[in-house]
Amino acid sequence: MFNCEACGGVLIKRTSYLSHQHLRHDTYVCDNPVCSASYTGHTELTAIASPSGMPNARPSDLPEAPAYTRNLALKAYREAQADQQLDLLDSQLATADH
Ligand SMILES: [Zn+2]
Repeated sequence: MFNCEACGGVLIKRTSYLSHQHLRHDTYVCDNPVCSASYTGHTELTAIASPSGMPNARPSDLPEAPAYTRNLALKAYREAQADQQLDLLDSQLATADH
């Protein structure tokens, strides 16, 4: 929610349109009838933060957010750690057998 910089009234979104798949333009009007200042702005999707879980999902056109790369690296690291722990468990079980 935004507030009017002139009077502090609540800005109400009046119109909104997509100019691009990832870019939306908005017009806001102050809800104070005496003021009724209006403002324009935009909302933009700038990066993909985590991949879609949908099977056969279309790849994103957006760049990957820093969190995206970090999440993938963390997932790979945890999988590697889990594999090492299983290997360790296997070797301990093998030792215990003898
Ligand atoms: Zn206002």
